[in-house]
Parts: sequence; C-alpha cells; structure tokens
Amino acid sequence: MTTKVLCPRCQKSSSLAVSNPYRPFCSERCKLIDLGSWASEEYKIPAEDSPSLDQDESSANNDNEH
Ligand SMILES: [Zn+2]
Repeated sequence: MTTKVLCPRCQKSSSLAVSNPYRPFCSERCKLIDLGSWASEEYKIPAEDSPSLDQDESSANNDNEH
C-alpha cells in the first residue's frame, strides 16, 4: 500500500510510505531546501543579541562595503 502525494517543494510525485525518509518530500534535496527556507527566514529576525559589544552604529549603513 503506497500513498502518493505531490512534493510540497517541486510538485513531483512522492511517496508517504515509510520507505521514504523524506516524506512528504520526494527527496532529501527537497526536504533540505524546504527546511532551509524557513530556517533562514527565522534567522533574519534576531539580528542583535549583544548591543553592548557593537557600538559602531554607523557601520549598519555600510552594507556595500563587504
Ligand atoms: Zn521534490
């Protein structure tokens, strides 16, 4: 018995069977991409946790210097 679904990442046919460790994704790649996408969004939110160490506020405007 195999339950077929569409991969949430690439919309290709994937399997919900226990033999697919990446379900509901079709592959490890899609699973990692999906996890990475929301993880990176979460990563943006708390940018400052120790303001006392970084007193150079003017550098915040110089994003192009890297
Ligand atoms: Zn996929």
